[in-house]
Amino acid sequence: MNVDRSTFDDVMVPNYNPAKMVPVRGEGSRVWDQDGAEYIDFAGGIAVNALGHCHPELVKALNEQGSKLWHLSNVFTNEPAMRLASKLTSATFADRVYFANSGAEANEAALKLARRWALDEHGEQKNQIIAFNRGFHGRTFFTVTVGGQAAYSDGFGPKPGAVEHCDYNDLAAFEAMISDKTCAVMMEPLQGEGGIIPPDADFVRGVRELCDKHNALLIFDEVQSGVGRTGHLYAYMGLGVTPDILTTAKSLGGGFPVGAMLTTTDIAQHLKPGTHGSTYGGNPLACAIAERVLDIVNTPEVLEGVLNKEALFREHLEQINAKYKVFSEVRGKGMLLGCALNDDYEGRAKEFMAAATEENLMCLVAGANVIRFAPSLVIPDEDIKEGLARFERAVAKIANA
Ligand SMILES: *Cc1c(COP(=O)(O)O)cnc(C)c1O
Repeated sequence: MNVDRSTFDDVMVPNYNPAKMVPVRGEGSRVWDQDGAEYIDFAGGIAVNALGHCHPELVKALNEQGSKLWHLSNVFTNEPAMRLASKLTSATFADRVYFANSGAEANEAALKLARRWALDEHGEQKNQIIAFNRGFHGRTFFTVTVGGQAAYSDGFGPKPGAVEHCDYNDLAAFEAMISDKTCAVMMEPLQGEGGIIPPDADFVRGVRELCDKHNALLIFDEVQSGVGRTGHLYAYMGLGVTPDILTTAKSLGGGFPVGAMLTTTDIAQHLKPGTHGSTYGGNPLACAIAERVLDIVNTPEVLEGVLNKEALFREHLEQINAKYKVFSEVRGKGMLLGCALNDDYEGRAKEFMAAATEENLMCLVAGANVIRFAPSLVIPDEDIKEGLARFERAVAKIANA
């Protein structure tokens, strides 16, 4: 059966608007489309393909587990899930792991756990959830309501209640909002979808202190920032602030769907048997692949490499900006970088992304104003240089138009 991009418009629900080309094959940070054209991948499947496409070690893990055991449900446990949970807990603050299949599901579990913890420990008046404007936590109805973009949560009827938003990096506004009724605070320790916005160190410390003061749980959504993305295994490690609950997905599976919620034994005990669950969560196939991702990423070579690659990106992006004056700022950390457009190009990030695709470079946007790069953590330096040469041609086309 032959399919092409026009098939998409015939058979898919129109909630996405994918690029004109259809990728068919990937290797490392290169991708080929139906016509055999080759692309450099700075999109990384939206911060998912932490080790690029078809990394030999991940292909091996997939094939080995794929010929052994794929799925059981949680009526039975399995070795890969127990190994992965052991490695995640020994590498982080956490003692306990709940597995899910996506970021939204991991966050859904975190929010339900926080509400249940508050109910058990403090009573039903402690139910407020505070999150931040421009935050993103997924598309289930609870998580999209907690996310700080009304445009994504409006238009679906009544929302889950007791969810309030405040400006990121505004500690005074946060202090005015939090109280003993606050059950949890959910935040990204580096806002991704909202525009690659790093937190001020004082802000994160202040949020932690105020959560402690009011007995509220601090949930870090590390779905995008986690698994080596910032040069630390998790971004919280670079901030020196430890959450009570952490969620991780995207890069965790290196392209295979998997998510996890990490927490302490004290908090975890509130999810007693039967209170929450997932048919697929923690399946042996996903966990075997994630275990291999974690083994490879959580090494000094890869984590230090991320920071060296960030420096290479920044150096070239500065050079591009010196020539064409299109960015107000290059921000972010590690392999999660955003080029914020200046006033002259305001709102035109999508045009830059389309122009980059024309030059055989895959990249992303984060809102209307920011071009986002979230490539493989092990992208070869030559691919970074070649990709940025292509990006420069795209920038030149727009700036000289
Ligand atoms: C992508 C993302 C999510 C949602 O993850 P899905 O796997 O799409 O459900 C949640 N939080 C953050 C910070 C994200 O970047």
